[in-house]
Amino acid sequence: MNMSNRITTRRHFLVSTGKAGIAAGLSFSAFSSFTASPAAQTPFEQTPLPYAYNDLEPTIDGRTMELHYSKHAASYSKSLKEAAAAEKVKTTKLEDLLGEVSKYSDKLRNNAGGHYNHELFWKCMRPGNEAGKPSGKMLAAIEKDFNSFEAFKNQFGEAAKNRFGSGWAWLISGKDRKLHIISTPNQDNPLMDVAETKGFPLLGLDVWEHAYYLKYQNKRPEYISAWWNLVNWDFIEQRFAAL
Ligand code: MN
Repeated sequence: MNMSNRITTRRHFLVSTGKAGIAAGLSFSAFSSFTASPAAQTPFEQTPLPYAYNDLEPTIDGRTMELHYSKHAASYSKSLKEAAAAEKVKTTKLEDLLGEVSKYSDKLRNNAGGHYNHELFWKCMRPGNEAGKPSGKMLAAIEKDFNSFEAFKNQFGEAAKNRFGSGWAWLISGKDRKLHIISTPNQDNPLMDVAETKGFPLLGLDVWEHAYYLKYQNKRPEYISAWWNLVNWDFIEQRFAAL
């Protein structure tokens, strides 16, 4: 069965079997968040990875993905739920919360960003390890705003490399309706009211060391250039089309 069929089948299975299927002890590891609290599917819960941990090898090794998803990202989700409860957050829409995040604590800001960023990051990648390319309106917009796809990749790579310490590189659609490349520190993102440059994130790259250190150690530039092999341009194009 190919990957897309597997994903479809898995999603269908989840929808149609609900808790009973989960209780039956499915082995797919990304179900752990469902078993922890099957009833509470709020936007602050982790969703299952759309592939297995080792599906992104050799670009990203399975152990890194396992730790990244089940430890780092899981902790952002958990801490966000704690902070949201403690600070009496009313909205259940993460985008709305990010847009007024300056009203809340640093704990909420860091973990709301961390949760949103990782949920997006997983979907920005797909198995295959063969570099793809955007098409249609997405490609046309990239060529218009960056001259060429190659120039876009170079500029994005520079933003990712030059982010000092931990953070993210982003392709965003700005308020001016043009595409921009930015980077943010820590777990901030361009939906936050505190962001230096605001916009809608189309593509995000995690350059925290936890995203690459086991395989690439200090060689962040090698991780960045290999990562293009995983980018899910179909997904990015859908986000762009939905704007
Ligand atoms: Mn991360």
